[in-house]
Amino acid sequence: MPTTEEFWPGLAAVMLNGLALLLALGFRRNRAVMVLVVMTCAALALAGVAAGAGGERGLDAMRMFAPWLLLAIAAMPERRLLARRNLAVIGLLATATWLTLAAPAHVWPELRDAFPFGWLPMDRGLVAAGIVLLAAAVCLARWVVRRTVMEFAMGLVLIVVGIAQLPVMRADGASSLFCLAAMVALVAILHASYRMAFVDGLAGLPNRRALDETLARLSGDYAVAMVDVDHFKTFNDRHGHAAGDRALKAVAEQLRATRGATAFRYGGEEFCLLFTGARSRSARQACEELRKRIAAMRIRVRAAPRGNGRKAGARPGAGEVKVTVSIGLAERDTRARGSDEALKAADKALYKAKGAGRNCVRLG
Ligand code: GH3
Ligand code: MG
Ligand code: MG
Repeated sequence: MPTTEEFWPGLAAVMLNGLALLLALGFRRNRAVMVLVVMTCAALALAGVAAGAGGERGLDAMRMFAPWLLLAIAAMPERRLLARRNLAVIGLLATATWLTLAAPAHVWPELRDAFPFGWLPMDRGLVAAGIVLLAAAVCLARWVVRRTVMEFAMGLVLIVVGIAQLPVMRADGASSLFCLAAMVALVAILHASYRMAFVDGLAGLPNRRALDETLARLSGDYAVAMVDVDHFKTFNDRHGHAAGDRALKAVAEQLRATRGATAFRYGGEEFCLLFTGARSRSARQACEELRKRIAAMRIRVRAAPRGNGRKAGARPGAGEVKVTVSIGLAERDTRARGSDEALKAADKALYKAKGAGRNCVRLG
């Protein structure tokens, strides 16, 4: 009979990994789904050991099959869930499960001695840990290039799973580590989903939904500024959409650096700055400084290829170009009491700034 110390980590590992798997499915994090499918099966195998089913077979199976599958998943790009590669991994996992459950007792030791690299003069647990840590390194290398939360988290998850493979680990210790790995995965999936909902992917600033929520909670003094890039359609037409994206990122960088204000991407080439408390009194000066900083920026552009969504004839070469912004600022006062009115007043002031020739700040 399993002892309590063996039983609970096994059960918790299955439940936590299953929960993380459901969440990853819901948020369509397909590589995380694949990793968690393998982890849930490994946790089930470990729980089987704890329950006394099949002796040490579950622990062996975790070291024999999971490392290869995890390495394969780590090396694959994010694809739709039912992509051929994912189906191949599921097929291999099903085969591994079938072997674990159905291989006759006299065949199992031979199988076990062949995996992961039976011929290596090392403990199989050590080899298995090495393969999973290699998978972790693949994810972390991707993270260095792409900087996505999920790659970093998958790297961490796989490090924990790698440690669980070590020869010193028994079923209960490995299950506890699988619990930890699942919790890391859960936090990462929730965090990545939060970012998806509230942070703009291009500018890296909170988005309009985040602005609406912030405005709804606001009280006391504040000032709102609407910031709109001037003639941005022409900029895109001349230099291409990719250069336009770089310009928006550079503008966002300047907005983020504005003292005492929180910057949001309102949508398209429009941004919003929110000054709260005492800071709202120096908002006008901060906006003026921001406008100057943006006008002083230089954005590197390459010679745009022909037919890149530009108007015929406009094909400038590589070099440095400028962008300017117009800013409309509204303070919360007797005319603009609620946040909706303040936003509208800022928008009106922005139109005034556009009418006044652009590259300027106007008060609403
Ligand atoms: P104005 O000075 O009056 O603001 O003129 P404008 O050309 O900036 O204004 P308009 O609203 O006509 O054009 C906005 C342009 O911003 C059109 C759209 O292609 C571009 N834009 C919006 N979002 C993005 C984006 O994410 N990336 C790029 N590159 N362009 C974008
Ligand atoms: Mg504009
Ligand atoms: Mg606009």
